[in-house]
Amino acid sequence: MELANLKDPSEVVTFSQAVKQGLGRNQGLFFPTSLPKLDNIDALLEMPFQQRSAYILNQLIGDELGEETVAEMVNNAFQFTAPLAHVKDNIYSLELYHGPTLAFKDFGARFMAQCLAQVSGDSPVTILTATSGDTGAAVAHAFHGLSQIQVVILYPKGMVSPLQEKQFATLGDNIHTVEIDGAFDDCQALVKDAFDDQQIKDELHLNSANSINIARLMAQVCYYFEAIAQLPKDKQKDAVISVPSGNFGNLAAAMIAQAMGLPIKRFVASTNANDTVPRYLLNGLWEPKKTVSTMSNAMDISSPNNWPRIEAMMEQGIVDKSLLTAESVDEDYTHIGVRQLNELGYLSEPHAAVAYKALKRSLNDDEVGIFLGTAHPAKFKETVENILGTPVALPKALAEVANKDILSDSLSADFATLKSYLFTTLKTS
Ligand SMILES: *Cc1c(COP(=O)(O)O)cnc(C)c1O
Repeated sequence: MELANLKDPSEVVTFSQAVKQGLGRNQGLFFPTSLPKLDNIDALLEMPFQQRSAYILNQLIGDELGEETVAEMVNNAFQFTAPLAHVKDNIYSLELYHGPTLAFKDFGARFMAQCLAQVSGDSPVTILTATSGDTGAAVAHAFHGLSQIQVVILYPKGMVSPLQEKQFATLGDNIHTVEIDGAFDDCQALVKDAFDDQQIKDELHLNSANSINIARLMAQVCYYFEAIAQLPKDKQKDAVISVPSGNFGNLAAAMIAQAMGLPIKRFVASTNANDTVPRYLLNGLWEPKKTVSTMSNAMDISSPNNWPRIEAMMEQGIVDKSLLTAESVDEDYTHIGVRQLNELGYLSEPHAAVAYKALKRSLNDDEVGIFLGTAHPAKFKETVENILGTPVALPKALAEVANKDILSDSLSADFATLKSYLFTTLKTS
């Protein structure tokens, strides 16, 4: 696989390089210079999820890692399902929250971890990241047990929900969690300082493993095939997919799937009140506003960092611009969405509700609509309970961690302290 930097097309890298580097020069995103067109879609849709995913990823990645290796990576990463639930009439929900941290980010993070372990061979790598909750859990679980990769997660003391802290700070082994006496911004500033420190970069082989890594998008392509495969056969060509969007990585993956030949009729980009993209598609002006807080807080983003990939696909004609519309769903309608779905016997949470309401606005009778369930309702327990007035049960994975001990170290928000911590902890482990 060959990828080019979207900001500087003269920078061309392999898949392995793109995985290791994350971003290109001038903070440019990498994107494949061409996408394989699959001519055996019907046969592919008959295959089991893991086998089909290995095939798709092998087609995308090419012969760089070896067919067997990629299949093994897929088996390690995708150890959970992506069921399509029938909600009513012509509407379905693709449930992407059955992984270890109950959010769709498990797919991308786990496959990226496998890729990084593969392309770094025996050289040690350190992942350093700051979290306010969610991403920490996905990263910690994805890398847990990959012994040549040490993970250090910084988080603001007392500002992460107790259950979230339990999810990422109880793993141990190669996962080091550090509560910082400060705010999330302090944690981010410490990470930035570490990436600016040549000695740390050289000796600890830092990598950020963040959400713009191409490996994540590649993994996410696979569950769109799984969605269509689960539709009744006579409806497989009519699907409209509504993607609850924040950084727009998930939507970019849907478009890649379509470019590879998956029948997706059109796309609905669903956002909450942070509506930079819906406004842009209406008037052509890119005008991010100040980010506002909403119930669907994983989408509280006004400058989506994956948008350049979508823009590039539309400009290069890889996807047809006219197939993308966008809807912004405000807090009242998100509320209504959770309630309506519940009345249909379907328990949801604010992100899925945004996608559902956006889909309903857009869907025609002769189409089939799929909205993505990106998080388990229990992840947004308080909000859902407030809306519905009924208790939401914790799934087993969450209930179990509640009894585990927190293994974090505590540090002040001071770079010199962090630096000496990194060298003592990581050099001996
Ligand atoms: C990250 C996230 C999103 C947004 O996905 P993008 O790929 O950033 O658009 C939506 N829902 C949930 C629950 C998330 O965690």
